[in-house]
Amino acid sequence: MRNKVDSYQQTVSCKNTALSGIVFNIQRYSIHDGPGIRTIVFLSGCPLRCLWCSNPEGLDANPDLTQNARQQWKYRRMTVKEVLDDVAKDEAFYRRSGGGLTLSGGEPLLQADFCLALLQSAKQDYGFSTAIESSLYAPPEMVDKTLVYTDYLLADIKLMDAKKHKEYTGVDNTLILDNIRRIAASKTDLIIRFPLVPGINDDQENLNKMAEFLVSLAKPPALEILGYHEFGRGKYNSLGKTYPMTDITVSPNKEKMDFVENFLRDKGVLVVRT
Ligand code: SF4
Repeated sequence: MRNKVDSYQQTVSCKNTALSGIVFNIQRYSIHDGPGIRTIVFLSGCPLRCLWCSNPEGLDANPDLTQNARQQWKYRRMTVKEVLDDVAKDEAFYRRSGGGLTLSGGEPLLQADFCLALLQSAKQDYGFSTAIESSLYAPPEMVDKTLVYTDYLLADIKLMDAKKHKEYTGVDNTLILDNIRRIAASKTDLIIRFPLVPGINDDQENLNKMAEFLVSLAKPPALEILGYHEFGRGKYNSLGKTYPMTDITVSPNKEKMDFVENFLRDKGVLVVRT
């Protein structure tokens, strides 16, 4: 059986603004996905299956592009130029706020050529600040080629234990942690996010291991803690899927968020509030 990482596009080509890929949403005026006001372009497909995923409509790399599906989920095949001309409509906001383009998903690196061409053209042809939200479950050489045109990388640490990571996300975390270790030693502006999911990754063992890992990095990154929420529940119903988080009914409350934040700060982690 092919490893899931092998399913990534393996070629990373030069700039091609006619190249097309599948986008499942373009969201404007975001202030939580990189600095300033940003437009988020969501690319279809993800090799992970996190139980708490709030974007189940973005997991399939080859979604149904028929009219009905397009109306419900906004799936579109778009060229690099079409995406960036659309993003450019908000250019005035980026210039004033220090914002720009953020690629998200799904896992944007799964459409490697399209992702790279978007970032390259965004920088060279449009002068945008660029950010990418990635699971970093991707071949290191692909990540590194993409980062040449990326100003900010936002990546998750979900669980430190490899077995639990596989149990709750579908994949082992070795590749992810290796990527983070290498990127933290580079010039890339790295922001780590921790999706705090009660009962799954809020135990002291996981928090301790995560703190140890983060402070051991060559350039310890900032950490944002994101509380689990159920905003995606309705989407699972619309897709005819069962919501996977059957055991968890509540988001972490303020006390829990404060406790985890203080716990990690005490261990030397640079926690930032979003
Ligand atoms: S990595 Fe992100 S998009 Fe992929 S399954 Fe996990 S939460 Fe969903």
